[in-house]
Amino acid sequence: MTTRGRFAPTPSGLLHIGNAFAALASWLQVRQAGGGFIVRMEDIDKARSRAAFADQMLVDLHWLGLDWDEGPDIGGAYAPYVQSLRETLYEQALERLRAEQKVYPCFCSRSELAAISSAPHGLAAEGAAYPGLCRHLPAEERRKRASLKQPAERFVMPDADFSFPDKLTGKICSFTGYGGDFIVKRADGMYSYQLAVMVDDAAMGITDVLRGADLLDSTPRQLALYEALGFKPPAFAHIPLLADANGVRLSKRDKSLALASLQAGGVAAETLIGALAYLAGWIDRPEPVRARELIEAFGPVSIADANGWIKISDRIMELLRP
Ligand code: GLU
Repeated sequence: MTTRGRFAPTPSGLLHIGNAFAALASWLQVRQAGGGFIVRMEDIDKARSRAAFADQMLVDLHWLGLDWDEGPDIGGAYAPYVQSLRETLYEQALERLRAEQKVYPCFCSRSELAAISSAPHGLAAEGAAYPGLCRHLPAEERRKRASLKQPAERFVMPDADFSFPDKLTGKICSFTGYGGDFIVKRADGMYSYQLAVMVDDAAMGITDVLRGADLLDSTPRQLALYEALGFKPPAFAHIPLLADANGVRLSKRDKSLALASLQAGGVAAETLIGALAYLAGWIDRPEPVRARELIEAFGPVSIADANGWIKISDRIMELLRP
């Protein structure tokens, strides 16, 4: 089967060097395998997404020296490559889950949930595990509440082991005791990231997902959705997050780390690519290099830091200062 990978940014801000790391690694993985690379705009959260950011992201990816075979600007066999135009597919998937009683209406408000669970087992991407309050409401109670309030819909997370081997770090990522039913459609009608990303990756024939480690705890949820909808899941890989020399995660809010700022400040894309490839261990020295010159060198990433992050030394950081 041909390898198909993707970069799927959310156009709610500018791409920063952490995004560049994920995009580069995913592109290298696909190009090394001689496969197809896809760009997909994840603008499902319309309130936060802006067309101007989406346009700038494509400019930034070109600047990095990446190319793609299918995407929002060039189309392709699985168009459209923009989530806001794919909602019919999400609804169809949800219909199937409803028919099989794998989702249920949830009437809990955000503040109610916050009050119940100040639980320490909170999940980074999704908040604390849902305590299951609405899972077993009797049908009559559901009808009564639905007449008063539009519910969200939650997926019944099976009590199963969704461990997986990470293709990039080689680690087995296991999530035992992990039980939160998660939202697939919000009360305001917005489909969740988890549902949209899984439906799109399956529909677009993605064989290899490579993304930032900030999404590690989403993977078991997506694996559960693949199983529930009867699709074969892709291989998953997560690139470590970047931290500064003090171990503080590089923040999206640090505008100087946006690719557009580096570009405007005269930092060459090759300098950034060289720094990232060095941090990943694909080259021995942080020297300027083009993305396509790394296709052969790309391989597993070893992480020195116990947190699973890669620290950027001040010396490397200097290279990235305009
Ligand atoms: N759209 C997600 C983000 O920007 C990434 C989705 C994914 O790679 O699965 O964080």
